[in-house]
Amino acid sequence: MPESTTRRPRPVRRVRRDVAASPFIVIWEATRACPLACHHCRAEARTARDPAELTTDEAVRLMRQITDFGRPAPLFVITGGDPFERPDLYDLIRQARELGLTPAVSPSATPALTSASLTRLRDAGATVISLSLDGASAERHDDFRGFDGVFGRTLRAWQSAHYAGLRVQINTTVTRTSMMDLPDIARLVRDRGALLWSVFFLIPTGRGRSLASLTAQECEDVLNFLYDIGSTIPVKTTEAHHFRRVALQRHVLETRGVDHVEALGLGALYRALRRRAERSGLIRPSRTRRPPIDVNSGRGLVFVSHTGEVSPSGFLPLPAGNVRDLPLTEIYRTSPVFTSLRDPGLLSGRCGDCEFRAACGGSRSRAFAVSGDPLAEEPWCAYVPGSFPYQDDLAAGLSAT
Ligand code: SF4
Repeated sequence: MPESTTRRPRPVRRVRRDVAASPFIVIWEATRACPLACHHCRAEARTARDPAELTTDEAVRLMRQITDFGRPAPLFVITGGDPFERPDLYDLIRQARELGLTPAVSPSATPALTSASLTRLRDAGATVISLSLDGASAERHDDFRGFDGVFGRTLRAWQSAHYAGLRVQINTTVTRTSMMDLPDIARLVRDRGALLWSVFFLIPTGRGRSLASLTAQECEDVLNFLYDIGSTIPVKTTEAHHFRRVALQRHVLETRGVDHVEALGLGALYRALRRRAERSGLIRPSRTRRPPIDVNSGRGLVFVSHTGEVSPSGFLPLPAGNVRDLPLTEIYRTSPVFTSLRDPGLLSGRCGDCEFRAACGGSRSRAFAVSGDPLAEEPWCAYVPGSFPYQDDLAAGLSAT
């Protein structure tokens, strides 16, 4: 094919909507109740339901408010705690479907997660579930989750969900302890099949405060490893927005035929992860990859707590209003918490000086957790603004997204 007609895949993707007017995704914490006690739980889940949770009627009102954002409707994720702790879960999914939403559910791997309950979810109208997998073995995963038997239950639910016709997203939290498990978890994702592998970079909030954090350099190594295996499995990051910067850099380096390991100063962790990925056949340069999308806290993403408090993300506890008092559309569009997060010109530190600030912007949740300022620089990013040598290529890549 002549060069002029060859289209290289876009390295990053822009949401096809005005994110100042309508979010790409709404996450509703249906309850904080959950029988598990995971080490990293954002919600600091407890066993009993909070009497102040949104009632069924209030939850339906919330869903109507989501439809007020217009078409296409935002993705609607029902999370927890464990959503199965709500006896009205199936009814809520049914009502969401009737309103034109496509609900996805994030259940916990408790004894309630059975083949029968997954079939009921599907019959009610759910199409996607997400399951957590934080280790490639029962030993690692169950230790992280705090209970024996959770790993096996997760694998069984994964299979049952497929049988029921539900698509499955796998969520993995990266910590110092689990990072060498990533290639083995990736292998499980490839072999068992998943809609998406979402790799979550810890925010030191909730119970996650006590877990070992990665260094900024380790984060670069892991992100580049994830970019590598993105040719084999659909991978996204959560709270590691600089994956978009890495994708843009790798795209430019590949186009120029420059070795990325040296150009990006990748370390021993990257080499070790890459070796293991190669041994498992996880790297196939010829395949297309899922470009990371430019959603960030308050910019395309909104979180509604179990009591109706609205914040830019579940990891960024900055209340901007309550859906019991104000419409979600109004809070999302006009609250200063949200409007400030959508203005990259307000970012400070290295993020404020960075040529990637509009495309990346860093994790606002981590900045807030570490410094108390949601607009401060991302502490887990090692990039020095302006240091990437091919700035013209970069500008072209950014304008093509
Ligand atoms: S300095 Fe901030 S904006 Fe720049 S790449 Fe890092 S996290 Fe992203």
